[in-house]
Amino acid sequence: MLVVMSSYATEEEIAQVVTAIEREGYVARVIKGGERTAIGILQNRGSVDPAPFLLLPGVKETIPVSKPYKLVSRELELTDTIVQVGDVRIGGENFVIIAGPCAVESETQALTIARTVKDQGACIFRGGAYKPRTSPYSFQGLGEEGLKILAKVREETGLSVVTEALDHEQCDLVEEYTDIIQIGARNMQNFSLLNRAGKARKPILLKRGMSATIQEWLMAAEYIMAKGNSNVILCERGVRTFADHSRNTLDLSAIPVVKQESHLPIIVDPSHACGRRDQVIPMSRASTAAGAHGLMVEVHNEPAKALSDGQQALFPAQFTEMINEILPILTEEQRTKLLQGRRS
Ligand code: PEP
Ligand code: MN
Repeated sequence: MLVVMSSYATEEEIAQVVTAIEREGYVARVIKGGERTAIGILQNRGSVDPAPFLLLPGVKETIPVSKPYKLVSRELELTDTIVQVGDVRIGGENFVIIAGPCAVESETQALTIARTVKDQGACIFRGGAYKPRTSPYSFQGLGEEGLKILAKVREETGLSVVTEALDHEQCDLVEEYTDIIQIGARNMQNFSLLNRAGKARKPILLKRGMSATIQEWLMAAEYIMAKGNSNVILCERGVRTFADHSRNTLDLSAIPVVKQESHLPIIVDPSHACGRRDQVIPMSRASTAAGAHGLMVEVHNEPAKALSDGQQALFPAQFTEMINEILPILTEEQRTKLLQGRRS
């Protein structure tokens, strides 16, 4: 249940409601929204009687939350969450481009790609230092050396960086170096990692599991928020289906559904959804048109020599083409911002 305070409610009245909720044995979470302060009642088994809360000064109304997810729910927060990463805003009316290689392979490779994508309007650089590979014999990433290269990329280009942590123990080191911690599709329900991410001081990019329903995905985000980290960015990256013309099937309808169900930003990774570079540009256009808050795409300066996912990496010229093709779909404001980023 949600206790919604009147817009005139004082801090003292809010604190009184929190105490009353805790007295009943529940957990209270104050959410200061753009238009109102609401207090979520968490850890209740069964329905909560609203009567004692409705009597308290400053309380406007109580709203039963009908969904299993609460903190991530649109019912709890009407205003879109904006995740701030440096001077980049993700969510709401903003549109973000995250680009870079699948894996950080060397300083030269990472810097070359970072400069290319920055020139074209990307404002966050991606690159795995720890790679979740199907085969234990495939390239596993450079580890801490890769993280150091990412820090160098940030220093040299001014771009923020995102990289994946594969488990909760690795999270400490990744958190030290990165601006956003990625939780990959294979780890969407790694609960110790989700709990650790909830305590992180950095935003989390939470990818959808390859067979996860939207409810399961939002519940995974709920784990992170329940531990205290509200800076969660959701990333649709395709789900497993019978189709074999594409690596996964990009679930475009997840975009409007997530936007309806949650206030969190949702971006799309067409590279892992498609698994083939010829499908990435059309799916980027489609994701933009469907209302995604941004895109995360793999780009490589020499895809044929890439140590992972070379077949889906865009050539630099294709990345430019992708941006040119999404520009007319963006709002005037988004387009202006992207073009400014391109020039600077
Ligand atoms: C990635 O983005 O590097 C990645 C491994 O993607 P996913 O977890 O979606 O497969
Ligand atoms: Mn990849």
